[in-house]
Amino acid sequence: MCFFYLFTLPSSCASVVIVVLDGLGNLYLGPNTPHTLDGKTLPNIDVPEWMEIDCSVVVRASETSTSLAILFTGYRRATPETLSYENATIFDIFRNHGYHVYGIMEQGDNRYMLNELDGAISFKGDPEEMNLVFTGEAGGWDVVDGGYDGWSIREAIHLIDELAHPFILVVEIASIDMAGHRRGVEAYIQEAEQTLNQLGELVDICKEKKIVVVITADHGMAFKNGRGGHANIPYRFTDEVRIVPLYVSDPTSTPSQKPPDFQMYEEDVAPFVLSLVGINETPRYHESREPIQAHWKILGVIVLFFVNVFVYALLKRK
Ligand SMILES: [Zn+2]
Repeated sequence: MCFFYLFTLPSSCASVVIVVLDGLGNLYLGPNTPHTLDGKTLPNIDVPEWMEIDCSVVVRASETSTSLAILFTGYRRATPETLSYENATIFDIFRNHGYHVYGIMEQGDNRYMLNELDGAISFKGDPEEMNLVFTGEAGGWDVVDGGYDGWSIREAIHLIDELAHPFILVVEIASIDMAGHRRGVEAYIQEAEQTLNQLGELVDICKEKKIVVVITADHGMAFKNGRGGHANIPYRFTDEVRIVPLYVSDPTSTPSQKPPDFQMYEEDVAPFVLSLVGINETPRYHESREPIQAHWKILGVIVLFFVNVFVYALLKRK
């Protein structure tokens, strides 16, 4: 499949796993200090050694479906419906480059999202019952019992050997978000630690198999009186909710490609993920923020020039 694109596009055709840790806020990962809504300090998540966090991302929406739409379209005003427009998603672009597109969606599995995927496991209904739905060409998984307990990570590990390459596999994991909402801050921290530990195995296997792994989140979580929230006011305005981590494992390029050195917003992630495998295209509605930055740089140089002229003139007068 890659062969056809080799001559036209500089794609490495490496497969990609994108893990979305629903509800994981960057402030909970050291050295940051998270606080409750009333200003009390909260504990950090003990981050495993492999997870050196490269940078953070500011999300535009604090609710899962909209946030995922922005993440996968690179369009800051995206709604779930935007996913269905032609060439609007990274999935469309990956597909144009010969990729297969799969998802294991514990949350965010609305019809627009599922329609973007060639095959998906979706968790409709109560998580305790895990009602699995199969779509498209990827079917054939067994229905299993259990809840949000790391099953998706184990299934992802299993799938990366089964799926046709190159593929992009989205793994949306709900356990951290669920723990924050239902069982409070201690359970949230504990669940995050457990999930990150389980993810270590997936990251290791992907390194071995030269598969790119991107780990991020759709929003974080804020706490008040022990209860977690993110979608409503005032939770949604906190940095605990607005800032999420971005981790990249890119075994295909040496040195490993790092995220850009400016503060990334959610809409910057889509073109960044495409660039990791050498695809220098952007989804249809993505608006690059870089020209604005270039304008500021030019303005800075002009201002500096006039300041210099002014100081020179002053000195000359004396
Ligand atoms: Zn969410």
